[in-house]
Amino acid sequence: MASLRKREAGRRRLEANKRQVCNVTGCTKRRHGLSYFCHAHAFAARHHGHPLARKIKKKEYEHERKHVVRFLRLHSAHGAVNAAYELAGLWLREAEAGQPVPAQEQMARLAAGGVTGAEIIEEVLALWLYSRWHPTGLPDDIRLTKALGTNVLLLVPREASSELTPGGEKKYRRLGALIRAEVGEHIRRVFGVFALNVLTAIERQIRAKQDAAQALRTPFPDPLSTPTAPPEGDAGPH
Ligand SMILES: [Zn+2]
Repeated sequence: MASLRKREAGRRRLEANKRQVCNVTGCTKRRHGLSYFCHAHAFAARHHGHPLARKIKKKEYEHERKHVVRFLRLHSAHGAVNAAYELAGLWLREAEAGQPVPAQEQMARLAAGGVTGAEIIEEVLALWLYSRWHPTGLPDDIRLTKALGTNVLLLVPREASSELTPGGEKKYRRLGALIRAEVGEHIRRVFGVFALNVLTAIERQIRAKQDAAQALRTPFPDPLSTPTAPPEGDAGPH
């Protein structure tokens, strides 16, 4: 039977693949399933967008968060900031009401955990700024998308499921790769332009401060060696 032969061929392909070594340079582990990578690297590729990517921890972008918080406070009356808070808040409220919004179930979980639209915006901007300032930490777009999804979804710790691990520890429901991508893509679609405007404004502000600090150190000319004559036509003080 054709289907039986097909299944047999599939099984052989799987066995052959499992004997191969992971595609990541330096990794000597065997491949997982039909993946090019071992289990750990396949997991990272699926969940974080690259076999060598990992979760970016909150404390890694503390510094960027400070810049974002200061900026948002300074511009709290700006229409775009308020619109961003409002849209993120609406996403939470609609999810809670069971409306068909992206990642509805997970966003309802965040809403129930007390997350606000402003908190989502702060998280998104801080992580986005981190990716601009650490291109080796989050070097490409897919990784940033996944990281945005992951870290927003972790604003409220995942629920522990009712079952325990064989060791008697709490078991957490894993955040699926698709849901991370769904949240990250929605954020980029809705808040991408806003985020870019905020981040470039933060950078401009930092540069302006540095320039002013530099200008402040400019020495004045020695009055004896270079007499500062009043400009032509100016009679000087009366
Ligand atoms: Zn590997």
